[in-house]
Amino acid sequence: MIEVTKTETIILNSGQCRFNSCYACGWGQKKYPVDTEKLKNQVKQLNLEEIDKLKIYESGSFLDNKQFPKKFREWLTRYLEEKEVKEVSFESTANFITEENLKTFKESDLDFTVAMGLEAADNEVLEKYGKPFKIEDYDRAVKKIHESNGKIKTYIMVNIPFSKPNTLEKSVEHVLEKTNKEDKIVLINTYPHNQSKLFKDWVKGKWKPLNKEQFLEKIEKWKDHPQVSVEYENMYFIPKFPKKEKKQKELKGCSEDLITHPHYQVWQDYFQRLYQKPREKEILLFLPCSYKKPYPKSKTHKAIQKAIKQTEEQEKIHRVVLSSPGVIPIDKCDNYPFTAYEWPEWEETPEIKQRYIQVNKDRVKKYIENHDYEKILAYFKPDSESWKAVKKAGEELDIEIKNLFKEESYQEVKEQRNPVTKEPALKSLKQELQKEL
Ligand code: SF4
Repeated sequence: MIEVTKTETIILNSGQCRFNSCYACGWGQKKYPVDTEKLKNQVKQLNLEEIDKLKIYESGSFLDNKQFPKKFREWLTRYLEEKEVKEVSFESTANFITEENLKTFKESDLDFTVAMGLEAADNEVLEKYGKPFKIEDYDRAVKKIHESNGKIKTYIMVNIPFSKPNTLEKSVEHVLEKTNKEDKIVLINTYPHNQSKLFKDWVKGKWKPLNKEQFLEKIEKWKDHPQVSVEYENMYFIPKFPKKEKKQKELKGCSEDLITHPHYQVWQDYFQRLYQKPREKEILLFLPCSYKKPYPKSKTHKAIQKAIKQTEEQEKIHRVVLSSPGVIPIDKCDNYPFTAYEWPEWEETPEIKQRYIQVNKDRVKKYIENHDYEKILAYFKPDSESWKAVKKAGEELDIEIKNLFKEESYQEVKEQRNPVTKEPALKSLKQELQKEL
């Protein structure tokens, strides 16, 4: 019989990580008041009836007395015992794992697990990464936890910056040697927090996250090991720029720099290699941008969406905009920089138009190559640069991409303002789309 452990999770924001120095982490910069009563109330709000395990996340160290008063930890263990919770897990850096700090848990009826982000078992890497401890500190902490009858969950970062070719192997082997079969190792794909130094490195093109295939290749050796689990995806991860890094004013105009702006390039890398399209969206439909942002709020996109909705199986259609920042799936279009840029077409020179076609053709190609769609369609003015880019990408990939804006319909509305929103154009979109579904 398989035993099912009922788990509850809580994020406790209290104080600040004492170190705030890790290269991929921005959480350590966040600071909260240390308020024992507030923490108790937060825990009391959990429904712990029939819960076996409580997982605590806290961005820092639960065992740091400055971040979490000892009195609160003592109260928590008593409270969980009263509620008949059997197990608790929390995070801590090696620095705070002492006999004294573990005593509360050792003396309670609770089983406990300490989650430690070792990241890499290499002191040179740890120092450059900014980790506030050495491997020897980790080893000492493991010993202390075992002596206190606790378990350990060690996080190792795959693709950690400053790593050497053997860093991952060395790290996993080291942790396997120091821990026992009750302990766990999590191999985690490195994603940078948006306020971290690593995020800046990505924007500058100095470092890149691994895509799924690259990650799976790296962890292949340990994927079936009973102590090892893997975390490839951070579902909530996107290249979210912090407020002070946003360059709204810079993104207005028509130039080479504004086609290949570093903020666009990072998002294109994300869309091409890391983004996962919604599963039900089987048909890719490339669309033009609009002056008003986010695009769905514009008259252009409202008109297009209305026409699409009148076709059968419209839920399969994945709307993806092509514009100067590149390929932009509609489900991500309300993020900076897609809400902030302006590309005044009337300022385009013949040279810029050529660059737009060339750069976006390559982006479209890479996007298509990395995502699995049953069919690829487009709806652009037949003489537009965006259509030329998409068409060329299709030719180079040797796949058919049909433009749903028929030439005959275009001729009817060509001289009018915003032709894609005119009735003959939308009729062409509906009819041609229906044929494809
Ligand atoms: S990873 Fe942990 S120790 Fe490092 S800065 Fe972030 S919260 Fe602090």
